[in-house]
Amino acid sequence: MAKFQPTSVGKLENDYDVVIIGSGGTGLSAAIQANELGMKVAVLEKEEELGGNTNRASSGMNAAETNVQLHHGVIDNVADFYHETYKDGGRLNDKDMLGYFVYHTAPAIDWLADHDIKLDDITITGGMSKKRTHRPASMAPIGGFLVKSLLEVVAKENIPVFNKTKVTQLRQANDGRVNGVEVNADGLTKTINAKAVILATGGFGASKEYIKRFRPDLESYKTTNQPGATGDGLKLAESVGAELMQMNLVQVHPTVQQDNPHVYLIGEAVRGEGAILVNGEGKRFVNELNTRKIVSNAITALPEHSAYLIFDQGIRDHVKAIEFYDKVGLVVHGDTIEDLAKNINVDPSNLAQTVKTWNDAAENHNDAEFNRTTGMDRGITKPGFFAIHIAPAIHYTMGGIHVTPKTQVLDGNGDIIKGLFAAGEVAGGLHGNNRVGGNSIAETIVFGRQAGQQVTLYARGL
Ligand SMILES: Cc1cc2nc3c(=O)[nH]c(=O)nc-3n(C[C@H](O)[C@H](O)[C@H](O)COP(=O)(O)OP(=O)(O)OC[C@H]3O[C@@H](n4cnc5c(N)ncnc54)[C@H](O)[C@@H]3O)c2cc1C
Repeated sequence: MAKFQPTSVGKLENDYDVVIIGSGGTGLSAAIQANELGMKVAVLEKEEELGGNTNRASSGMNAAETNVQLHHGVIDNVADFYHETYKDGGRLNDKDMLGYFVYHTAPAIDWLADHDIKLDDITITGGMSKKRTHRPASMAPIGGFLVKSLLEVVAKENIPVFNKTKVTQLRQANDGRVNGVEVNADGLTKTINAKAVILATGGFGASKEYIKRFRPDLESYKTTNQPGATGDGLKLAESVGAELMQMNLVQVHPTVQQDNPHVYLIGEAVRGEGAILVNGEGKRFVNELNTRKIVSNAITALPEHSAYLIFDQGIRDHVKAIEFYDKVGLVVHGDTIEDLAKNINVDPSNLAQTVKTWNDAAENHNDAEFNRTTGMDRGITKPGFFAIHIAPAIHYTMGGIHVTPKTQVLDGNGDIIKGLFAAGEVAGGLHGNNRVGGNSIAETIVFGRQAGQQVTLYARGL
């Protein structure tokens, strides 16, 4: 199918039922859902490129008790998904949000499949006991696949999506209801009326201002986020009295290649499919599939504040993104483990011993050193051998707008701000103090759809 063409700004109308701000997974699924329920919707995106951080997602989308899991022989349980996410989030997750989320992940996979967006393969991410991370059968990175596929549905349904159209203000009626937006559309300012507005504007990982305000200790960190992840939705929401929550909870991702000006996230699927992490001495130092918080802290505590991911061709065969990492020059090669060790300046006998011990652990499913229990389907045995140099970087902002599980925005008194809805990374509460890999893409579809349904009820006066 031809590349999606955004609607020209000249076609921006004065009135819609629903204005959706942001063209990531949340905005696009909200738009499709509301459109299918009969709403006249418009998606407004400030960047030229559509898809936000969703475009960058690599590993997959978590869901429990899916048919896809059963096809792969994985017998799962929604309650386990709930408890593992709650534990991994430091028990700071909003329980109502989490409850809604876990029970709506399997329907979200089905909803995508109904739209011919099939996530038929599975892998695993840190902090999960089961393979819940759904991805395309080709094992391609989820983000680009999802944005392209959702845009195909959007095109089929004739939903207008405007790029280079930044929302600068929310409009309010005298009674406080949000009833429209002000935009700057490719240089022109315009007022748009709407029965309801959905904030699907993503997080603030790329905002120096917000990071300085809420996490000054991370000011010098690089970020994996797209440049537009500047927390605009938080400012818009605050301007109409919304409450922000857990704003200091910022996730630092452990495996980010950042030796060049461009920063690349190395997806968790690389560890999920069997890679290990070694320090400057060529030794393991952590359970690589512990939570992101724990693995990041372990790397930061090393004298060199960085580490190497080590893997082989067998692991590479299971993560298509590695072909891209190699193409852009991030992957160091070796014909043997000793060869690889020399190329990354670590002691060859140490690395050989580390890999041997790990291969025994994977074979016996018993990691006596660090108690790793997942991502052990294969050892590091099949030539060639590879390494990627990584260090932690700002990745995800768990804090955000205080919302109900119906995506309604709350003010400081716990009252609903009528006409305003928020979903996806801009909303706070779902993840606690550690967002599990794969849960965010799931959040975009689960709560994007929910927002699309709730605005429809609201616009109908129900
Ligand atoms: C490198 C990387 C890899 C990741 N991998 C995974 C993964 O494998 N699995 C997983 O679950 N999660 C992953 N994540 C996290 C996940 O991709 C994001 O949290 C999620 O996609 C956010 O979706 P969203 O729709 O809420 O926001 P986004 O996709 O960021 O979309 C928000 C959009 O709103 C636009 N916008 C903002 N302000 C305005 C404004 N004022 N006017 C108009 N438009 C505006 C932005 O430009 C952006 O395009 C990854 C994140 C990154 C950065």
